[in-house]
Amino acid sequence: MKNKIKFLGMIVLILSFSFKPINEKRRIVIDAAHGGKDYGATIGDASEKKIVESISMKIKEMNKSSDVEIVLLRDDDKFIELNERVEKINTLNPDLLISLHVNISKDINTNGVQASVCKENNFYNASLINANSLVNVISNESLVKRKVIDANLFVLKNSKCPAVLLELGFISNEKDKNYLTSEAGQNEIAGKIVECLKN
Ligand SMILES: [Zn+2]
Repeated sequence: MKNKIKFLGMIVLILSFSFKPINEKRRIVIDAAHGGKDYGATIGDASEKKIVESISMKIKEMNKSSDVEIVLLRDDDKFIELNERVEKINTLNPDLLISLHVNISKDINTNGVQASVCKENNFYNASLINANSLVNVISNESLVKRKVIDANLFVLKNSKCPAVLLELGFISNEKDKNYLTSEAGQNEIAGKIVECLKN
């Protein structure tokens, strides 16, 4: 009898090691930059804060994966200080942080999607891999592929997780601006990010 119990105990132990808990999802935090009084880059009616907020919400809506949980740092038009953002991110303890921005340049011909990672982040390699995948996936004939660059940015440096800052395109470039502000363009970008996060 004692041996039987021991044997059953062993089986339970083996089973509990061979199965992943059902609720163990990859948690991805999407940080829509700026908000509230902080419009970010603006050209005419188009503003960075609105573009990234809209795309963030689409990412959350489109994610149907049972392996991925999307958490939005903001889903409305509110201002959040950088240190408050970092505090929230580190409390959520995500598997990846994606901070969404839109670029601006004095040169109206400068265009395309680029990403930044920080060498001082402890998860630099994972950040770099994710940054490259995201830029590869999002770029297309509408949005030129730019580089992944190293940047010592507060949110990237202080987040205790792999962290990527995505600059989705240039609001100062007519073609990028039209793509970034259109429903179709935003759906396409969000859909591609969701696809990329599944892997
Ligand atoms: Zn920005």
